[in-house]
Amino acid sequence: MDTIITRFPPSPTGYLHVGGARTALFNWLYARHTGGRFILRIEDTDAARSTQASVDAIFESLEWLGIDWDDGPYFQTQRYDLYREYIKKLIDAGHAYYCTCSPEDIEAMREKAMASGGKPKYDGTCREKNLPETPNAVVRLKAPLTGTTVIEDVVKGHIAFQNAELDDYIIQRSDGSPTYNLAVAVDDITMGVNTILRGDDHVNNTPKQMMIYKALGIDLPLYGHLPMVLGSDKTRLSKRHGAMSVSEFRDMGILPDAMLNYLVRLGWSHGDQEFFTRNELIEKFNIEHIGRSAGVFDQNKLFALNAEHIKVTAPRDLMVPLKPLLKQRDCDVADDEKLEKAIVTLVPRSKTLIEMADGALFYFKDIEAYDEKAVEKCFSGQAAEIMTALSGELAGLDSFDEKSLEDAFKKVMENMSLGFGKVANPVRVALSGKNVSPGMFEMMGVLGKEETLKRLEAALTFISALT
Ligand code: GLU
Ligand code: ZN
Repeated sequence: MDTIITRFPPSPTGYLHVGGARTALFNWLYARHTGGRFILRIEDTDAARSTQASVDAIFESLEWLGIDWDDGPYFQTQRYDLYREYIKKLIDAGHAYYCTCSPEDIEAMREKAMASGGKPKYDGTCREKNLPETPNAVVRLKAPLTGTTVIEDVVKGHIAFQNAELDDYIIQRSDGSPTYNLAVAVDDITMGVNTILRGDDHVNNTPKQMMIYKALGIDLPLYGHLPMVLGSDKTRLSKRHGAMSVSEFRDMGILPDAMLNYLVRLGWSHGDQEFFTRNELIEKFNIEHIGRSAGVFDQNKLFALNAEHIKVTAPRDLMVPLKPLLKQRDCDVADDEKLEKAIVTLVPRSKTLIEMADGALFYFKDIEAYDEKAVEKCFSGQAAEIMTALSGELAGLDSFDEKSLEDAFKKVMENMSLGFGKVANPVRVALSGKNVSPGMFEMMGVLGKEETLKRLEAALTFISALT
């Protein structure tokens, strides 16, 4: 089999959104799965809408996702000579021609076609005139007049277009610039692309691009048109549905692997498996199991998957994206060992890196204020007595390992005839500021002896000032 060559050709008119990222992912996975090549091409011919900021944002999001390319990035604006060469080739071979019809002529054709109930299309006035190149002439492709153009789509199946309904579309504008479909076809041909997976909003462009292949006698690539990603109300995903860009999800504390996992499930399945690691995706992805129905974007599912991915990521690896978040929150995170231990305690209770960073704050900062409800509930009754007794036990410990801590708690529990919860509740608030926290001994292990005693002391001072 030939090497699979896929591509992702975004138009840089905004950030990389969920739908685009899914398209990139499918093409990338298919190339990686087959040992093929993946090309990145920037379709920046629309000067009015393309921006450098969008190009940068697209690169940044792809890099964050870990979608790497083997070839490119190519920029269409740097390839105009090539497009001109192909346009000339098509003219010389009799597959394209100059057309000098004025906008008024074209308008008249439209009106005439509509009046007789037909679709507005170019009527072929210049098709057989063999006109020479003149200023302001456009170039049109000689499209077949009869028969059908058929896409054997790997996702949607057989899609037939009546050639009589397609017209001799413009491949070069009067200012000499190539049109969109010409540029895409020439690029895919010259880059050797043989597999095109793209959104089904491009289905109507496909027969136009296929005509260029046919005119040049070049084998067609394999096409697969992916159903659009929908929002919760089953309309096409758009800004109204909330976050849509990959960078927004990064900023919400989603891991790249979780994002990939979620994106792939918006249109591909492997039995009823929901959780995939990156390597598993590369191993299992195939074209046959791309779905025909549109995926519905559900942010809660993404968050739930993210929690799963957090659990299987090594704490050391979570440290990398977490550190900058903690620095933004004014935490001193120079102590890697402490941070790693803290992460271990937070993994089971974090759906996002943001939750994890917020949850880690109390490890790295003094408690500014105790939660009011927690104070009411846990700093009353015997709380001061309990904490004084526990401090006494803890002060005598050489090690803060789980066993020693458990023994210290047991002594207090026995001496005061209290259950674990009664002893732990005020301590939890003293150490974390709240009445929900990671496990008691784990938490103490991260804080260490000195800090634990300091916080118990501070809580006792706080309580004595209450009365
Ligand atoms: N530039 C097009 C887009 O961003 C993609 C074209 C294609 O995949 O052929 O929608
Ligand atoms: Zn004409």
